[in-house]
Amino acid sequence: MKKIIIVTGASRGIGKEIAKTLAEEGHTVIANYNKSEKEAKQLQEQLQKENKEIEIYKADISQEKECKEMVEYVTKKYKKIDVLINNAGKDKIQLLTEVTKKDWDEIINTNLYGTFCMSQKVAKNMIQNKAGTIINISSIWGQIGASMEVVYSISKSGIDGLTKSLAKELGPSGIRVNSIAPGFINTEMNSALSKQEVQAIKEEIPLQKIGESKDIAKCIKWLIEDEYVTGQVIAINGGWSIT
Ligand code: NAP
Repeated sequence: MKKIIIVTGASRGIGKEIAKTLAEEGHTVIANYNKSEKEAKQLQEQLQKENKEIEIYKADISQEKECKEMVEYVTKKYKKIDVLINNAGKDKIQLLTEVTKKDWDEIINTNLYGTFCMSQKVAKNMIQNKAGTIINISSIWGQIGASMEVVYSISKSGIDGLTKSLAKELGPSGIRVNSIAPGFINTEMNSALSKQEVQAIKEEIPLQKIGESKDIAKCIKWLIEDEYVTGQVIAINGGWSIT
């Protein structure tokens, strides 16, 4: 059945692939972006040429007002929101001793507060409808911790905690909440790594390859169709986190 879906951070990388996959499945996708307007417009043009239902919406999800306005816009236009994909996120690789309060605020407010805030705003409509699905993109680093990405790891652990709490609180209203925790995915977020560093990571991964955005999009498609999975953190990482 065709659904109304918000994907945050859909201008690039994993979010873009999720938006594309879901629009191609026949859903109506509201693709959120913040800074990458050109990329968001290109995605919209490409999908509209294929007669897919997509619109783009600029909002900084670290700001409550902008989350509220985006959710109000979608609710007013489409009357309901079936699915929220909290994908937008940012990272900064640095030593613990180099982290400033500004770094903390930027990462925590985008990754954790943004995910919380969007979920809170969307849940009101989902509770009224007694149906809905929220999928949060966390990270392998939220599960096992990353050296030199302490704030990022904290933000992603927090997302997994949020997922489990919301699954319990919203389950009785017919709303499922899950996290996907990607490993190393080939996107701009990892563009600072050298070829040698990427090769070294590949060798650590049991499946001996890095992930692609489509690996995440495929799981999203399945989670939307599913009816009985909630409160889970699904690791998509080629076996990298096996202990
Ligand atoms: P990316 O290529 O850097 O893209 C990040 C996306 O998030 C962009 O579309 C960006 O939009 C958006 N974004 C950032 N801050 C935002 C804000 N304040 N408001 C709205 N949108 C915002 O990253 P990616 O690799 O696709 O990562 C997507 C998600 O997967 C993130 O949550 C990331 O932490 C997670 N993840 C990635 C990997 C990986 O290896 N790539 C691994 C584990 C988890 P604009 O450019 O328009 O601002």
